Formats: sequence, C-alpha cells, structure tokens
Amino acid sequence: MFNVEKINHIGIAVKSIEEAAKFWEGLPGLHITGTEVVESQKVKTAFLPTGDSEIELLEATDGESPIAKFIEKKGEGVHHIALQVDNIEEALAGLKEAGMRLIDETPRYGAGGAKIAFVHPKATGGILLELCQR
Ligand code: ZN
Repeated sequence: MFNVEKINHIGIAVKSIEEAAKFWEGLPGLHITGTEVVESQKVKTAFLPTGDSEIELLEATDGESPIAKFIEKKGEGVHHIALQVDNIEEALAGLKEAGMRLIDETPRYGAGGAKIAFVHPKATGGILLELCQR
C-alpha cells in the first residue's frame, strides 16, 4: 500500500537557470535555496520553496540531456509534476500491477538524495509524472 502525500514540486525545463531566475526570484517570497548537478540525468537543478512544495528549474548540462531534447521538441515550460508518496517501491509495484507504463521500474536517486521514479505520459493522460519519496 502507498499514499500520495502532496505535490512535492513542479519541474520546469529552462534553457538557463540564471535567466529564468530573473523572473522567478522577482516574485516576492521566492528564492533559489540551492542548485545541484545530477550527473546521471545530465541536468542542473535549482529549487525554489513555495510553502509546502517547490518549483524545480531544470537546465541541461549537455545536448544529450533529456531536458535538452524536451526543449528542442516543445520549448521551455512545465516538464513534470512530482507527487510525494510514502512508499515509492509499493507505488511502483502497484502501478505496474495495474498495467501502467513506467519509465523507471525501480527508484533512482534525484536531487537532494530523494528516491524518484517517472511514470510514462502515456499512462497519465499526457503528463510526465514523477513519484518521489524523501
Ligand atoms: Zn523533479
């Protein structure tokens, strides 16, 4: 069994975190609290806490990055929504059993050491869904 606890963050693909920060940090109350390069994903991330959840800016670190490919196809914009669950292994097993298409059948480690896994947009009505457990 597992439960969805909340929207943990919304991931936004940007060409440049520095450029995007001009807008986001221009909103009173929003500040980038840390940036991190996730080598395995070829991505640099920056988090802006918004109360109980966060905005995650994602910048490609090279042309082969999934973020570079996303921007090539669709332009900058919302890339994924991340739901926080209390047991990611159970969540993945449950979704798989229900016949849903998963990108990751086992969790991997994302920014901040969180366990994350992606569910395919074909299973969710067009949204790339990240599950995460902190
Ligand atoms: Zn994310």
